[in-house]
Amino acid sequence: MFVDKVRITVVGGRGGDGAVAFHREKYVASGGPDGGDGGHGGSVILRVNDNMTTLLDFRYKRKYTAGAGLNGGSRKMSGKRGEPLVIQVPRGTVVRDAETNQIIIDMSTGEDFVIAKGGRGGWGNQHYATATRQVPRFAKSGRKGEERDIILELKLLADVGLVGFPNVGKSTLLSVTSNARPKIANYHFTTLFPNLGVIYVDEGVSFVMADIPGIIEGAAEGAGLGHDFLRHIDRCRLLVHVVDVSGSEGRDPVVDFDAICAELHDYSVDLSNRPMIVAANKCDLLPPDSDNLERLREHCAELGIELYEISAGTTQGTRNLMRTVADKLRTLPPVTIYEPEYVAPVVEAGDPNALEIEHYGSTWLITGTWLERLIMDINFDDYEARNHFDLLLRKSGLFTRLEEMGIQDGDIVDIYDMQFEYQR
Ligand code: GDP
Ligand code: MG
Repeated sequence: MFVDKVRITVVGGRGGDGAVAFHREKYVASGGPDGGDGGHGGSVILRVNDNMTTLLDFRYKRKYTAGAGLNGGSRKMSGKRGEPLVIQVPRGTVVRDAETNQIIIDMSTGEDFVIAKGGRGGWGNQHYATATRQVPRFAKSGRKGEERDIILELKLLADVGLVGFPNVGKSTLLSVTSNARPKIANYHFTTLFPNLGVIYVDEGVSFVMADIPGIIEGAAEGAGLGHDFLRHIDRCRLLVHVVDVSGSEGRDPVVDFDAICAELHDYSVDLSNRPMIVAANKCDLLPPDSDNLERLREHCAELGIELYEISAGTTQGTRNLMRTVADKLRTLPPVTIYEPEYVAPVVEAGDPNALEIEHYGSTWLITGTWLERLIMDINFDDYEARNHFDLLLRKSGLFTRLEEMGIQDGDIVDIYDMQFEYQR
């Protein structure tokens, strides 16, 4: 089955350990400490790949770990940085935190996103020579990379969604109007995953249409496959409701139409309010004595919904329908993009006295459990999150303590993987 929602674990690479080493040279009795730093672990990065349209690749591999940083060596040799791990996702993949279900990022813009940072490499003992500690015999071990469980959710970026009962001709319509080649057969549930097609109407006029199979009665309550698939049309700007008016399957088009509308409404009121047009399909099969088309036309007219007669099978009226769709899209607002929902982390700023502050020249190295947890929870690509972090540190009294210890403007404050210049 098509996988459109997967849970995976991403782990940043472990940082390498710092080295304890001492300078050795002929005729030099005892050199200073020269243990190099461990390399930082690689980060796990999400990247959009426009050739991907499904999350199938994630079905069998659940854990993604970036490369570890190598340990530092003697003679101030730094360990090599861990290799970053790039995870390719289809455009429009929504990434959620598996625990809170909050949206972390919407991969729609095409920018890379660091989803799990690598662990910081430990400092070698070269940093720990001070006036009072000439022979430092210790170095820092590397830190673990960030680890988090995330949910990838694919909502296809279709402008237009085809809805309707199975077998009414949705796949056929998509195949005759677009570059997509969906499976077509006259039994239900042939298409087990949504097909996307790009429809070129004219030079510079094109749109993406998705064939959404599997809408059945009761689907909105979770029965069958329908409910899952409905998520793919959340972003559509226009729905094309395909109705079989031929009666070839013994169903009534007006009843069908209402059933699908009720289905949409149950799933999402928002979605059911999306602009809709009706494609009355299989007109080529319409028996001369049938009033199916006329009854549907009247029903739609009452609801203020436009109806277009087509035959996807013979392509009669399909070109005209696609032109109409393109014209309508021009007047409709753009597809909604989800904003990351930033919520302040649960971790509160702790006691500044619980922090370890090491001071080497103009560099201030700060470590501590609550700070580490806080860092893990903050998305530093987010402006508001950075401000929040700054505020928490200020509130915690850390800066006051640093000032008491003599920090100067322009000194470097080093907090785990980040360094910033101190400004009062
Ligand atoms: P879907 O389940 O809505 O995607 O329906 P399909 O596109 O798979 O079509 C179901 C069956 O109806 C297939 O056998 C198609 O060949 C047939 N079909 C679709 N559109 C037409 C049409 O306009 N005229 C005729 N005669 N058959 C059609
Ligand atoms: Mg189909």
